[in-house]
Amino acid sequence: MTLKNKVVLITGATSGIGLEIAKTFAKKGMKIVFNGFGNVEQAISELQAITKEVHYYESDLAKVSDIENMIANIQAKVGSIDILINNAGIQHVSPTQDFDVDMWDKVIAINLSAVFHTMRLCLLDMQKNNWGRIINIASVHGLVASKNKSAYVAAKHAVLGLTKTVALENAEQNITANAICPGWVKTPLVEKQIHAKAIELNIPLDLAKKQLIAEKQPSKEFVDAKDIAQLALFLCSEHAKQVKGAAWNIDGGWVAQ
Ligand code: NAD
Repeated sequence: MTLKNKVVLITGATSGIGLEIAKTFAKKGMKIVFNGFGNVEQAISELQAITKEVHYYESDLAKVSDIENMIANIQAKVGSIDILINNAGIQHVSPTQDFDVDMWDKVIAINLSAVFHTMRLCLLDMQKNNWGRIINIASVHGLVASKNKSAYVAAKHAVLGLTKTVALENAEQNITANAICPGWVKTPLVEKQIHAKAIELNIPLDLAKKQLIAEKQPSKEFVDAKDIAQLALFLCSEHAKQVKGAAWNIDGGWVAQ
């Protein structure tokens, strides 16, 4: 079984973990479909340096109609989605009593509801083809909590339950749904938290980075996004066909404590 020419949708692949997964999968000859904001041109050109099969959709995952239009367009123009990687995510940090209500709705919409919508829209084709791989990029915060991240922790815990449900519903077919639970990975999402810590404690960025990591991650090293991409690749392989409903942590020992 080869992954060449498989159609993979990676949400939020303009930076960080998603872009690294897209590059890794492109090198295996897969057709890369992605969305996301920020430096879109840069992401497209990095991917086009690897493959001609790059398809970008400007779709806001906070809007159900955008998700529905994007998936319908991909199915009509690129083909049925063989591999779905729900990667897009946002963070908002605040004590629960002060948590901005609009930010709560936004985090839940992007980090949780969008995962449900993309899966519901891709499953019929996977079932018809008797082949599919779904990987939801959750977090160690799907397994344990940290203070001041109520919406993120709630969404990521829910994503694990949702992943297990879809894995069970499709257990008799060659369709798997699994979650990857990274610890700290140095990406734009975390850079923002390092900056916030440096300002809060009035310390240099380097020290803020060290403190952030030391609080939770026993290895005291960031997880490399390239390693997450390789784990995702394994989960798409035939050797992983019996891995169903897993929450696979890759976290420098964070949840082993
Ligand atoms: P990132 O900020 O580099 O990437 C997030 C991506 O999501 C970007 O492409 C962004 O444009 C996209 N996105 C955000 N809102 C969107 C929306 N409304 N519609 C469409 N796209 C949208 O972050 P990252 O660190 O690479 O995070 C990727 C995933 O990994 C997230 O789900 C995050 O929760 C998870 N994660 C990250 C870490 C970490 O330490 N960086 C740890 C655990 C889990």
